[in-house]
Amino acid sequence: MPTLAVQYLEYAPQDATPAKVRQRLRQAFELLPISIVILGWDLPPRLEETVTKETARHNASLYRWHLLLASDAGFALPVEWQPISLRGEPVPGFKGLPEFTFICPNRADVQEWIAERIEVAAQRGIYQGLFFDRMRFPSPAEDPERNLACFCKYCQRIASDSGSDWEAVRRQIESLLTDADRAKSFTQTLFTPTDDTLLETFFTFRFDSINRIIQYAAKLARSHGLSVGLDCFSPTLTRMVGQD
Ligand SMILES: [Zn+2]
Repeated sequence: MPTLAVQYLEYAPQDATPAKVRQRLRQAFELLPISIVILGWDLPPRLEETVTKETARHNASLYRWHLLLASDAGFALPVEWQPISLRGEPVPGFKGLPEFTFICPNRADVQEWIAERIEVAAQRGIYQGLFFDRMRFPSPAEDPERNLACFCKYCQRIASDSGSDWEAVRRQIESLLTDADRAKSFTQTLFTPTDDTLLETFFTFRFDSINRIIQYAAKLARSHGLSVGLDCFSPTLTRMVGQD
């Protein structure tokens, strides 16, 4: 039998009360064979407590909706953690929201922070699992020049250690974007593999970076006795954000 998981309360609605939150979840349990409830990361304790109890009452597991490469505590992370664009600038967050401002998976300080956040979540003692969200690079769809990443010094070092010339990759993509026709064909490569080796180096590097950080986080979560769930990007768009 397939597992049915539901994501609940990404944000607490203005009028949310424990009674309303319990009632809605109870209705969902009556309609569906839910086995996992994935709960939002930044809720008032009394709502969290209500959902924890109701989930246990139905013998379902409670997972934390856990942001991997963005802030999950309502505050902005250091700007130098943000991925670096082709132009050498930090990739801005969507509408400036901390939870939609991405950080580079290849930075050592980011990896330490990820380990800390997993430990903090595990120590809450209320979760049976973590559901990793934002486990990707920012989407370049809106503006590749501003949002395609990462060209930070950490990524550069890892890429050059494996024999890639990151500056050549950066220049190649930059030059593709200076001309409308070439930009159009570059856009295609965000969806479909090409025979351009430099470009493929870039996409493979991103896949490897995301795979590595997920494996790292999953291993830590499991070492704390927590199960792991993954929030995958829409299948046709995964190449664009570094998910393989
Ligand atoms: Zn980077």
